[in-house]
Amino acid sequence: MLDNLILNKKSIESIYKTICEFYEKYLKQFGVKLPKLYDSQGNFTKDALVLVYLAYDYPNTRKVSKEELTKFVRSYYPNTNDVQQARHLGAQAGWWIIAGGRDNIVVKIKRGLYQLYTLEQPYPGFKKGHRISETDNWDEIKEKYSFRCATCGSQEGKPHFHWPATKTILQKAHMDPNKPLVAGNIIPQCQKCNRGDRNRWVYDNKGRVIKLANANFVRNFDKDVREKIYKILYNEFNRKNPN
Ligand SMILES: [Zn+2]
Repeated sequence: MLDNLILNKKSIESIYKTICEFYEKYLKQFGVKLPKLYDSQGNFTKDALVLVYLAYDYPNTRKVSKEELTKFVRSYYPNTNDVQQARHLGAQAGWWIIAGGRDNIVVKIKRGLYQLYTLEQPYPGFKKGHRISETDNWDEIKEKYSFRCATCGSQEGKPHFHWPATKTILQKAHMDPNKPLVAGNIIPQCQKCNRGDRNRWVYDNKGRVIKLANANFVRNFDKDVREKIYKILYNEFNRKNPN
């Protein structure tokens, strides 16, 4: 591993300027979030510092360890102990920053290392996951999910993933069945995943179950789980009679 790069104010500003140029040209349209270079007090923001550090000498970017990033951020924020910005800038803000780990399939890179992959495309999947709340245009929604069921991945018009003799039909489905079917609450689901009994669940925008939507379904839980829930609620509601 190389020693920390020395970046003075001037080089930070110049790297940030390069980032802005790529951002305007390639990334803004996908809703990638550009961190401000300065906060209201005129200090560099941590997000910008991390992005600048990773973008040094772009496109010949380096693999950078979390320790190295932390050391760099510390030269402006001495009390920083663990820099989480690189991961956040990737998955949540849309910058294509590779985080080393077992499930990364883009480039071979060790756990704990980060590398800015490109400034010309957003983080894979970013445009699909993050702007869905802004539209209720059905074709646009389906396009963002590549015409697949958000839950099981079956593709519209093709044989269903689990029932190959059935043609997949995509339907507008509730993320939260207790809320109206309007922008921000619609995901595409196939006719199998969107059956009536699925009103039990609240889904996230990736079609994963995140909550229970129908209290009655608690009756299907195993006894030890019901007991644990009872304990939680008994304490939460101060042991009051529910009636
Ligand atoms: Zn499905």
